[in-house]
Amino acid sequence: MTAIHTLGFPRMGAHRELKFALEQHWRGELDRSALEAVGADLRAQHWQAQRDAGLDFVTVGDFAFYDQVANHIQLLGCEPPRFDFAGDEPELSRYFTMARGVAAEAGHDHAGCTHGDHGSFALEMTKWFDTNYHYLVPEFTSATRFGLASVRLFDEVAQAQQAGHRVKAVLLGPLSFLWLGKEKEGGFDRFSLLDQLVPVYEQVLRRLKQQGVEWVQMDEPILGLDLPDAWRHAFERTYWQLARSAPKLLLATYFSPLADNLRLACQLPVAGLHVDAVRAPEELTGICDWLSAHKVLSVGIVDGRNIWRTDPDAALARLATVAAKHKGELWLAPSCSLLHVPFSLAAEARLDAELKSWLAFAVEKLHELRVLRAVFDGDEASVQGELAAARAAIASRRASPRVHRADVALRLARRVESDDRRNAPFVERQALQRLRFALPPLPTTTIGSFPQTAAIRGARAAFKRGELDADGYRDRMRAEIELAVRKQEALGLDVLVHGEAERNDMVEYFGEQLDGFAFSANGWVQSYGSRCVKPPILYGDVARPAPMTVAWTAYAQSLTPLPMKGMLTGPVTILQWSFVRDDQPRSLSTEQIAWAIRDEVVDLEAAGIGIIQIDEPAIREGLPLRRAGWKAYLASATRAFRISASGVADRTQIHTHMCYSEFNDILPEIAAMDADVITIETSRSDMELLRGFGDFRYPNEIGPGVYDIHSPRVPDTDAMVRLMRKAATVVPPANLWVNPDCGLKTRGWPETEAALANMVAAAKVLRREL
Ligand code: GLN
Ligand code: ZN
Repeated sequence: MTAIHTLGFPRMGAHRELKFALEQHWRGELDRSALEAVGADLRAQHWQAQRDAGLDFVTVGDFAFYDQVANHIQLLGCEPPRFDFAGDEPELSRYFTMARGVAAEAGHDHAGCTHGDHGSFALEMTKWFDTNYHYLVPEFTSATRFGLASVRLFDEVAQAQQAGHRVKAVLLGPLSFLWLGKEKEGGFDRFSLLDQLVPVYEQVLRRLKQQGVEWVQMDEPILGLDLPDAWRHAFERTYWQLARSAPKLLLATYFSPLADNLRLACQLPVAGLHVDAVRAPEELTGICDWLSAHKVLSVGIVDGRNIWRTDPDAALARLATVAAKHKGELWLAPSCSLLHVPFSLAAEARLDAELKSWLAFAVEKLHELRVLRAVFDGDEASVQGELAAARAAIASRRASPRVHRADVALRLARRVESDDRRNAPFVERQALQRLRFALPPLPTTTIGSFPQTAAIRGARAAFKRGELDADGYRDRMRAEIELAVRKQEALGLDVLVHGEAERNDMVEYFGEQLDGFAFSANGWVQSYGSRCVKPPILYGDVARPAPMTVAWTAYAQSLTPLPMKGMLTGPVTILQWSFVRDDQPRSLSTEQIAWAIRDEVVDLEAAGIGIIQIDEPAIREGLPLRRAGWKAYLASATRAFRISASGVADRTQIHTHMCYSEFNDILPEIAAMDADVITIETSRSDMELLRGFGDFRYPNEIGPGVYDIHSPRVPDTDAMVRLMRKAATVVPPANLWVNPDCGLKTRGWPETEAALANMVAAAKVLRREL
């Protein structure tokens, strides 16, 4: 019989039990042993779900109280010495200190924060490959030593065995673990730690073997990246060494084609190989050619990154061609860990029955494996009902008029090349806009959002619960907008914003108003730690039935003679932060959204809004894992942005905003977006990242952020003056704007007003110097 297994399972629980337990623990309301009990209970339930679906193994080692990479830091004994833990500090409390920093910095938001004043700021977080999950980054120096330092994994294995499960343990492989870390010492190369690290992995594997574990899944997702030769070449000797003492190893790769690593992956001395047959189905033939028949081939046939129900016939056809070529054992699995999809559809109350029938979350995906295996092994009779239901759902989705709309198709068919170009080149637009707005040099503005106070969130919740009617809600939001306008006027800002009080989230707000998007009630996925997100589900052709922001923005403009900047989320970001269609290319979905945003931009202009910002913080996140894919992606992403921005007259000023600090490798494409003004995050890099813009001679206007909004600390005027002086040496001062790094929604009003007052004062100082 063909075996079925999963690479990993969501850890939050059906109702985010882990999130709530963690937050209670951090507030001091749940002690350590009670938290451990919650973890043990969740693991037991998740293993049982795997058992109920007939999986041949339960997967152990995928659970983590915060992050699986952090678990490995403790397992391998490489907690950074800067934490300076007391000898008797319990493992779990050290773990949370590494994950969250210490109380002295409690006011500092974790997300994206990479620095601090003393030794106990949290480990840096960064994105796990191209997912929206964030892992904690291991820190390495020449002094790093490894040693088997935690028994947590072995205890979990024992727990599963006691419950009567057959265990497959999972580890992040040594090369991926090192690769995902960062050097914290100049001139040091973390690769040099490999020889020290491998013996500790050997110890871990030996111990698992002693426990009777037959298979260990070694995740080496970096085989899907463009690797330096030294790293590629190290795989073979590493796995020779590991295989000596180990249980059977299943080397797992996912997220990306193996490409130049395909042969290498097939020839490593391991007992089995898992490949992502959803992301790289075209590689299956080559894999069958290179993988010897005595090895297990685990085919990642069910999409672990998306929420769609598997088309059983397409999957079976693919498996049949694999079986015809690979004479060895086949296993079936999701393409990657199910960490990246929500728990189950069972508790889903918000989606309609038809849409629900098109979906499969983690638990449903386990059962898809069971059905596929039955048919594949010739026992179709036992799953006839489930197979018929799956086929019917696939057929209904394929033919549904909710998915395929003639009007949307027609509109895209009518597009012409010039749709993505403004009428006049930037210099001409700049002249027209300068005449129109007559802004002072170094104009001041903000990125869009103002504090989302408890009162605002309360009003929105009351409106959603039906306790506040539409008029009441509108009045409350208008009052907030007016407050924000008056405060900005008093501060002396030059270009105002309405403050985004009405927005729960910058993607959800638009998704809720666009055709083609649906929202689940319970479709949570872990983003980092206890933080979960509920991505919108893009299921159908996108259209904008009615204006989405015009009424709020026009109201804000009616309150003031100063220019009011309209505020939209761009097509790439909306796509990137949603579950997206798998029945058409991402580029087409992005372009559909772009046309809907363009409608909004045009309507804002018609309502008298002369400056419109289209936020694209996620452009960089969408970059494919392999360089070979960059060009096509960037071409489509920048074209989508330009489509959204190009429906307006030259005298209308388009802004964009991006929240990150690495541009150098994509500057030509950023310039090709041709936004009249781009605002970026630069304060934490001390304006260093602006240098790239200068060297590149970036032609349009730029607002390099002058203060970090992640901290409640109020920056003083001198610091901002210093940063802007530095900026002015790199970029022509005539093209500079003055603004914070990002939106202010997570801040409170007092610190926001104080910081902006200093920022306006800084701009005045600088104007005198010009
Ligand atoms: N306009 C958004 C805000 O100010 C931008 C946030 C973002 O790009 N992340 O909140
Ligand atoms: Zn930002």
